[in-house]
Amino acid sequence: MPGFELFGDSERKQVQDVLDSGVLMRYGFDGMRNGHWKAKELETALSHRMQTTYAHLCSSGTAALTVALASAGVGAGDEVIMPTFTFAASFESILAIGAVPILVDVDDTLTLNPEAVENAITENTKVVMPVHMCGSMADLGALKSICKKYNLLLLEDACQAIGGSYHGKPLGSIGDLGCFSFDYVKTITCGEGGALITNNETFYENAHKYSDHGHDHLGSDRGAEEHPFLGYNFRISELNAAVGLAQVSRLDEFLALQKRNYTILREALSKLPEVIFRKVPDGGVENYSFLNFFLPTEEITRKVHKVLGKNGVDACFYWYDNNWHYYRKWEHLLEQKSLGKLPSEVKKGFNRNSVTDFSKSDHWIGRTISCLVKLSWTEEEVRKRAIKLTETIKKNL
Ligand SMILES: *Cc1c(COP(=O)(O)O)cnc(C)c1O
Repeated sequence: MPGFELFGDSERKQVQDVLDSGVLMRYGFDGMRNGHWKAKELETALSHRMQTTYAHLCSSGTAALTVALASAGVGAGDEVIMPTFTFAASFESILAIGAVPILVDVDDTLTLNPEAVENAITENTKVVMPVHMCGSMADLGALKSICKKYNLLLLEDACQAIGGSYHGKPLGSIGDLGCFSFDYVKTITCGEGGALITNNETFYENAHKYSDHGHDHLGSDRGAEEHPFLGYNFRISELNAAVGLAQVSRLDEFLALQKRNYTILREALSKLPEVIFRKVPDGGVENYSFLNFFLPTEEITRKVHKVLGKNGVDACFYWYDNNWHYYRKWEHLLEQKSLGKLPSEVKKGFNRNSVTDFSKSDHWIGRTISCLVKLSWTEEEVRKRAIKLTETIKKNL
């Protein structure tokens, strides 16, 4: 998945434009910037590629999620449904605006289980936030119907699945809002950066204002703006946006490489009947950033994962024991360890559905291995890796 692997002349050229003009900020300084508006150009490129009316860049994917929630008017005491398997950014963004994260089980799609989502809805629920982990998506048709039935917002975290699609539409463009991350390890990178996309004009207008201190961006000079509401600083710099502008034009090239490498690994593993692949919902196309599969038991999975590492098959992850991605190791969230006081609702809040039993998530994640698909591997390297991967699993079943 990492865009950092393929980095070269086009990125350098874009960054040089910014260095030559000296305008490192995305707003203002019109006379000095030699016609370079890297953040604006990247927003235009993204909204075209993602088939949405609007795109707005932020300083990170976590910032984009926070801004997306704030733009949609989500705030103190509102409940946001999120999965047990994700990245810490999910609950961080929810807590940042004073809302309450409600953890919900994942299934063999490795994303939100729609039935569990429906069971978790209360009169305080405002948002369902599926996270398209490891390159594939939640059952968006089912989640959309639930959101419609209960009048909830659908916010897609597509940070790990840029370029994937669902019934022909780009991931991120299907919900009311969608978010991407362009940090250093994502499919395309800005160094640090993120974006939200939407077709909703109000959300977009709120988003660019909120992420720039609540300025309305209507003043003739930088600083002459009015302040329709409180905001924050989640701006991206022109330097970061310049890198992203080069990377976004290479997205399809990166996806093709990921698909080739993924397919070689998958075909090899398909020869083992004990290996079951992660379920991709009908109509879904992955972005091929990871190959995800289940082994017969937790014990076998742990053993295989360990031996893979020893045998030099690197970049294969066992999320069940991972600190960043699975609820079992989030002691800071589970034990409410905060530097300051959390919104009082949170204390009784996030386990409020009395769902402390995530054995359904454990059932799947305990048997999951995800192998990162790199862009820089040659075809020969992938073929060798495929043999090693398959033989290691076969020997340890
Ligand atoms: C990387 C990531 C984020 C956050 O992105 P940053 O740019 O690192 O803040 C959010 N959600 C998921 C699923 C991610 O993988």
